[in-house]
Amino acid sequence: MRYDALIVGGGLAGLSAAVQLGRYNHHVLVIDSEDGRSSFCLRYHNLIGWPDGVSGPELRKAGRAQAEKAGVRFVKDKATQASVLDDEGFSVHTESGETYEGRRLLLATGVMDRLPPLEGLRPCLGISIYVCPDCDGYELTGRRALIMGAGDPGAHMADILSYWTDDLVYINHEKAAVKPELLSKLREKGIRVIEEQVERLETEGDQLRGVMLASRERIEGGRAFVAFGGNEVRSQLGAQLGVKLHRNRHIEADPRTKMTNVRHVWAAGDVLAHSEQASIAMGDGSQAAIWMHKSLIEKPGSLALRPLEDAEKHMERADS
Ligand SMILES: Cc1cc2nc3c(=O)[nH]c(=O)nc-3n(C[C@H](O)[C@H](O)[C@H](O)COP(=O)(O)OP(=O)(O)OC[C@H]3O[C@@H](n4cnc5c(N)ncnc54)[C@H](O)[C@@H]3O)c2cc1C
Repeated sequence: MRYDALIVGGGLAGLSAAVQLGRYNHHVLVIDSEDGRSSFCLRYHNLIGWPDGVSGPELRKAGRAQAEKAGVRFVKDKATQASVLDDEGFSVHTESGETYEGRRLLLATGVMDRLPPLEGLRPCLGISIYVCPDCDGYELTGRRALIMGAGDPGAHMADILSYWTDDLVYINHEKAAVKPELLSKLREKGIRVIEEQVERLETEGDQLRGVMLASRERIEGGRAFVAFGGNEVRSQLGAQLGVKLHRNRHIEADPRTKMTNVRHVWAAGDVLAHSEQASIAMGDGSQAAIWMHKSLIEKPGSLALRPLEDAEKHMERADS
């Protein structure tokens, strides 16, 4: 069977696209390995309608249920190879040995953060330990905060965060080189820079209390950012298809339609070259889906809508 659309990645971008495409009654399959940023960010604070925050897993569960209600199918698997079959088709091969075909392809595979393997980190992500200053810098307002990082990326993060608080400690966990001018800037701002490994985090559930350094010095702090650089941009499938990548390996796409330079291949969310935020990923997904739909119906006779009975069956099931 050839789906109208294959979506690789069932995070916030992929799910928004799935809901939109499902509601056009297209045949849609989402292939998702369920290990992206929205699976482990435990609180989004900047989404309207959620003044106390909402967790990624909660949003994903709701998004998937909404897409399934609109008839979208999901498989848990990792796509390993994408190929062009013909003018109207792609195949996606997966780790479990399956091959799926689709007339349109959306890459919504995101980015994977490079996080230190410190016990207690995961339950705090998005709640008391953060990665994105535009999302969570506000949470530091007027408070002591630690930056755990490596070299320049960590130092840059400390510099950015000084907008919200002047009580910052930068722990250069990997002791990587920091540009002298950047180091001077941090010192001028009164930011303490420690060249030492964090031995362990001191946490209570999802709350950070401080860190213990290798030297046994304890640094107190209820908020922290991690900034190690070297995040993995998951654009490998795009590269296989000849999709144009930015020098930082993010995918480039038309800003209006989200289509890449390869005809009928779209991209949405963090894998694209732009700000990495939840609402932007969702917006990208919807926008890509609208243009995928336009392209699916552009040729007279090319309609591949789900039969009406099929859509009605889904609606009945959802209503019961
Ligand atoms: C700790 C943390 C805190 C954050 N806090 C905020 C915040 O407060 N506010 C905010 O706006 N943003 C925040 N973000 C950023 C936000 O989570 C991302 O912008 C958002 O998740 C991007 O959505 P996405 O769909 O592009 O990617 P993801 O949510 O990462 O989803 C990508 C999906 O693709 C799947 N995938 C990848 N490769 C493959 C493959 N080959 N085959 C099959 N599936 C694949 C993954 O398993 C994943 O499910 C935070 C991120 C982190 C890590």
